[in-house]
Amino acid sequence: SICYLDGSYQPLTEARISPMDRGFLFGDGAYEVIPVYSRRPFRIAEHIARLGRTLDAVRIPNPHAAAEWETIVGELVARNAWVDQSIYLHVSRGPDERRNHAFPAVMRPTVFLMSEALVTPSAEVLASGVAAVSAADFRWARCDLKTTALLANCLLRQVAIDKGCAETVLFRDGFLTEGAASNIFIVRDGVLLAPPKSHLMLPGITYDVVLELAARHGLKHRVREILEDEVRTAEEVWLTSSTKEVLAITSLDGRPVGDGRPGPVGREMHAWYQEFKNTVMRV
Ligand code: PMP
Repeated sequence: SICYLDGSYQPLTEARISPMDRGFLFGDGAYEVIPVYSRRPFRIAEHIARLGRTLDAVRIPNPHAAAEWETIVGELVARNAWVDQSIYLHVSRGPDERRNHAFPAVMRPTVFLMSEALVTPSAEVLASGVAAVSAADFRWARCDLKTTALLANCLLRQVAIDKGCAETVLFRDGFLTEGAASNIFIVRDGVLLAPPKSHLMLPGITYDVVLELAARHGLKHRVREILEDEVRTAEEVWLTSSTKEVLAITSLDGRPVGDGRPGPVGREMHAWYQEFKNTVMRV
């Protein structure tokens, strides 16, 4: 595949960065993953805006204006073969002469983008839903930032993988936060519940789309703090992300969620999401 590194498009296998890059040494960077359907980036303005917020918060100078980012993403999509792509976009604080926690006096951010085939959940996975485990959320207190320092997320995801599951649902102080790499919604008494945005979870682009679709279609929904016990006794639990879209969690810690099959509210939301995605793609 073709990637973009610091101004040039090149085969991914040929791209090289310095081991002195702070992205490598410290996980000192910000990233985004943007889904592309039929060669059209989905919600790109929102992804670029979130990138800007992360960069501002971690004090990495944003190397591009929004329009420039969109041009780079568009060019990368055009240079890769797949119709549906997942664009990974990464900005690190760049290289330094010495390994030093303090920022370099002059920052030269490294900009790296690559493309992969976008593989959304198959019909079989959608029909069965996925199994999840739970774990205590031991991440730092700025989970609202999409930084490349993902060691905690990797460790937490692996807890699920080691048990043959797909995702880890995280609880902090008795409340639901999110998944290791997804946001989590639940349904109780037919009402869709979502945890409120805070520094303890990533403000997902898909999360926003799901709440917009709930409002548009008149589905009762509330954004409020969700107790661990409310998740364990929910009728439905879903995960959302840019690449997984809306996916039912049908077992949690080995116990079925609801009747153990994807529920009606989630199936409807998945259909609304597909419809919405398709209408946006046609404009
Ligand atoms: N939370 C975390 C920790 C994530 O890593 C992700 C995406 N990978 C999400 C939520 C979902 O965000 P989005 O809908 O923007 O993909």
